[in-house]
Amino acid sequence: MTLDRARLALKKVFGYDTFRPLQAEIIQAVYSSRDALVLMPTGGGKSICFQVPALTMEGTAVVVSPLIALMKDQVEGLRANGAPAAFINSMLTANQTREVEEELLAGRIKLLYVSPEKLVSQNFQPLLKRLKISLFAIDEAHCISAWGHDFRPEYTQLKFLKAQYPGVPVLALTATADKLTRKDIAGQLQLNNPAEFIASFDRPNISLSVSRGQKRFEQILSHLKSHPGQSGIIYCLARRTCEDLSAKLNARGFNTAYYHANMAPGERNRVQEDFINDRVPIVCATIAFGMGIDKSNVRFVIHYNLPRNLEGYYQEIGRCGRDGLPAEALLFFSYQDVNTYRQMFEESDAVQVQKDLKIAKLNRMYQFAEAPVCRRKTVLHYFGESYDKNCGNCDVCRNPPRHFDGTEAAQKALSALVRMEENVGMNMLVDVLRGSQRREIFNLGFNQIKTYGAGKEYSFDEWQFLLSQMLHNGLLEIAYDDNSCLRVTEAGKSILFDGKKVQLALPPRPEEKTAPKEVAQRQSNRTQLLRDELF
Ligand code: ADP
Ligand code: ZN
Repeated sequence: MTLDRARLALKKVFGYDTFRPLQAEIIQAVYSSRDALVLMPTGGGKSICFQVPALTMEGTAVVVSPLIALMKDQVEGLRANGAPAAFINSMLTANQTREVEEELLAGRIKLLYVSPEKLVSQNFQPLLKRLKISLFAIDEAHCISAWGHDFRPEYTQLKFLKAQYPGVPVLALTATADKLTRKDIAGQLQLNNPAEFIASFDRPNISLSVSRGQKRFEQILSHLKSHPGQSGIIYCLARRTCEDLSAKLNARGFNTAYYHANMAPGERNRVQEDFINDRVPIVCATIAFGMGIDKSNVRFVIHYNLPRNLEGYYQEIGRCGRDGLPAEALLFFSYQDVNTYRQMFEESDAVQVQKDLKIAKLNRMYQFAEAPVCRRKTVLHYFGESYDKNCGNCDVCRNPPRHFDGTEAAQKALSALVRMEENVGMNMLVDVLRGSQRREIFNLGFNQIKTYGAGKEYSFDEWQFLLSQMLHNGLLEIAYDDNSCLRVTEAGKSILFDGKKVQLALPPRPEEKTAPKEVAQRQSNRTQLLRDELF
C-alpha cells in the first residue's frame, strides 16, 4: 500500500490536500503492519491516522473508543462523507446490532467503532473471528494504564488482541501520556516493537500565567474587564464554587453561566449550546465541561483552583486558542487546593498505589505552579518533548527570577544521587546533601559518601526549590513505579560528566515578596507538605 492511495483518500473523503505533521509517517507504519503508539494533542488529527488506513486497506478496521456518546457523531460524520462506518455499543437495540453484524459479514463496513466492554465480551468473539481485520485502533489508550490519569479497568483486557491476532497492526492513540504511561500502554497491549510518534504539544499562541490565589475574584474581574466580550471557561474544583462565582460575576454585569455534573442533562446541554453559539460567552464549570467541545474562538481558560495534574491542566487550557490567535491561560493556586485534593484522594476507595500516584502527580502540579521555570518548558518536558529555549510567552519568562550558575549545586545533587544508586526520594537526598544526623542515614551508610554534607549552604526549602527546578529542566525524573525514587536523566548525566552547565534560581527572599507572618506560615506549610507526603 502506498501513500499515494492515502493522499487520494484524504482528499476524496475528507477534502484535505496535505497531511499534518506525523500523519503520513503513522499511516506508513500501519501499512507496513508495524504496531505504533501515537501521542498527539487534542485537535492534532489523530483520527485521520486510523481512518485513512481503514479506508484504503483490505478488510475492516476495529476502533476502540470509551466515549460512547462521541462514537455516534464520528460514525455519522464518516457516513456523511461516504465512508462506510458503523458502531456497536450498548446504545443499539438487538435488531440494530444484528443489522450491523450482517453488513460487517458482507464486507461492507470499513470502520467499526466498538466500546472496550463490547470488544472484550465473550459473545462478540465469534463475530470478530469471522472478520478480515485490517487494524485495531485503540483511542484514548492512556485509559489502559494505571499510571495514567484516567485508568479504566476494562481496557486492561485488551491485551488479548495481540495474542489472538498477532498479524494485525495495533495503533494506540492518546492525547495525554507521560513517559511511564507510554511504556505501560505498549507493555499492556503487548505491542511488538512499536514505533513511537510524539507530535509537538506546543501551543505557542497560548500565554501561560500562574498566580497565587489571594484576591482571585478581583484578579478575575480585572481580567474580564480588560478583555470585554471574549469567550472563556473558568474551571473550579467545587460545584458550589461554579455557581457562586457565576452569580457574583453576573451581579457585576457579566454574562456567565455555570456547569457541573449535578445538573439535569437538559440544562447542561443548554449551557453547552449557549456557549458554543456565543450566546453566553463565559462558563464557570467543573472539569465535566469541555470534553468534545470544538469551539475555535475560546480566548481564555482560567483555573480558579489548581488542576489535579499536569495532564488535566494541559488538556483544559488546550481548549482556548484553537484558531491559532493569541489566547490566555491563567492559573490560580493555593495550598488549600492541595489539601482538598489530598483529602479527596485519601478518602476515595482506590487502592493505595493509585492514591500514591495521584498524590505524586498532584505534587508535580504544585511544583509546576511554584517553580520559577518557564511554564511551557516544564509542561513540554513533562510530556517528554525536548524544548530548550525559554518561551517568552509565560509569566516566568516575562518576569524572570534571580538566576545563578547552578552547575555546581546540580552536580552535588546528581552525584549524591548516583552514589546512593538512585534509590532514594527527594527528602533523603536533601538530608544527605545537608549532612543530616538522622539515624536512617547512618544505618544506610549514606554518611560515608563523598557528597554527604556537601550542600550545607542551602536550606532544606532551598534544596527542594532547586531540585524541583532540576525535575522541570529534565535533569532528574521521578520513578513513580519504584517508590518515587529520583533518577538521573541523560541531560542530568551531561551535567555530571560532560561539563554541561545549568542555570538555576533560588526562591525569592521572604522579605522581598510577602509580609513576614504570611511567609512563615507558607513556608512551614510547604515544608510540611513536601516532607510528609509527597516524596
Ligand atoms: P484529535 O482526534 O487528535 O483530537 P481530530 O482527528 O478530531 O483530532 O482532528 C482535529 C481536526 O483537524 C478535525 O477537524 C480534522 O478534520 C482536522 N484535520 C485532521 N487532519 C487534517 C489534515 N491533514 N488537514 C486538515 N485538517 C485536518
Ligand atoms: Zn516561558
